[in-house]
Amino acid sequence: MSHVTDYMGIKSSINIFLLNYVLYVVVNYTIVTDSTIRQPGFNLPRQSWSLLNHFRTGQGPCHAVLHKCGQLQTVSHIMDACPLTKFNGGLQLLHEAEDDTVKWLESVYSDYSTSEIK
Ligand SMILES: [Zn+2]
Repeated sequence: MSHVTDYMGIKSSINIFLLNYVLYVVVNYTIVTDSTIRQPGFNLPRQSWSLLNHFRTGQGPCHAVLHKCGQLQTVSHIMDACPLTKFNGGLQLLHEAEDDTVKWLESVYSDYSTSEIK
């Protein structure tokens, strides 16, 4: 009987793993063409590097508050949609972490940090 229970537990775990694998797609993975090298911006100060990766991955602690424009604040809103903070150039240019990106990160950081986890 315990073998059956163990088998069902393993089968259930595998199903949960497969379900998570299918449901959670890694976003923006195409911007990393060689994962064995340091990505652009690696040498930035930690604050900028962290923020850059929030925008690269579309993940960040900002979902529950309103942005200064009155819309729900999300990483994609700040980067792609907001007329006050939109990054012109798109994800690929952001990923390259050139001077324009660093200036943009600095400009959005003050707004972003006020609503970030303290
Ligand atoms: Zn906004």
